[in-house]
Amino acid sequence: MALLKNRYVSLNETAEPKEKKSFFASLFSKKDEKPEVKEPPKKDDDIPAGSVKCPDCGSIYDKKELGSLKICPKCARYYRLNCKERIRLIADKDSFEEFDANMQPKDPLNFPGYAEKVASLQEKTGLKDAVITGKCTIGGFPAVLGVMDSGFMMASMGSVVGEKVTRAFEYATANRLPIVLFTCSGGARMQEGIVSLMQMAKVSAAAARHSEAGLLYITVLTDPTTGGVTASFAMLGDIILSEPKALIGFAGRRVIEQTIKQKLPDEFQHAEFLQEHGFVDKIVDREALPYTIRDILKIHSGKGGEE
Ligand SMILES: [Zn+2]
Repeated sequence: MALLKNRYVSLNETAEPKEKKSFFASLFSKKDEKPEVKEPPKKDDDIPAGSVKCPDCGSIYDKKELGSLKICPKCARYYRLNCKERIRLIADKDSFEEFDANMQPKDPLNFPGYAEKVASLQEKTGLKDAVITGKCTIGGFPAVLGVMDSGFMMASMGSVVGEKVTRAFEYATANRLPIVLFTCSGGARMQEGIVSLMQMAKVSAAAARHSEAGLLYITVLTDPTTGGVTASFAMLGDIILSEPKALIGFAGRRVIEQTIKQKLPDEFQHAEFLQEHGFVDKIVDREALPYTIRDILKIHSGKGGEE
């Protein structure tokens, strides 16, 4: 918003002196007379307080209309859920017990501004880092649950995300529980350098031990799941679910297009495209997710036939 306003000001400022110097202006090419932007960008200030404007369909409505599922009532666009909202939707009421609630990131590289950024996000979101893990029941079936939160540095995976997810797998393995992870991530956390990258191997090893113990791992890919999280535990699920239209990928579109020197299809890296190509087992609507997960847990609990 601030950026847009600045742009506005600088355009108006350049427009005014031009009119005053019309004689000089006429000496220059027509190119100089052309305004850079024909239509001024629409100001978001028009949106009344307490309302939101859907970035997809442009409808403006009261925030309350999004409901607890946070879906646009006009075009069914999915807004991102923070991890508390997600846990409320998935875990049975009052069943969630958090693991490692106070684990905090360190600043191993003394990366400029990192400690300050973490501190301000902790205050803003009430989270210590980008994932919450714990145990709960889902439709009455016990499971370990982990949820990533894009509101915390785009849920990049640093040492805390890696360690908490690893411990969640280890708890699930030791207690012979299934694990359900809701992923979203911008990738590795570059402010933690190599410490961030090694989390991929650590989490993957923990996931492998859980799998070798014959236990169930369900991933639910949410928008956006990219980079090192896709390249490690997001794609290791025994069953991989996704929310509709979620962006899922490793590298960005531009990087891939430049590398392979080909234009990629529009729907590339969307959940539907990945399902068609066998990377996603099922795309599940947000409201149906708790029931779908419950059904999968039930089938794998050995109690599938009981009613
Ligand atoms: Zn909409």
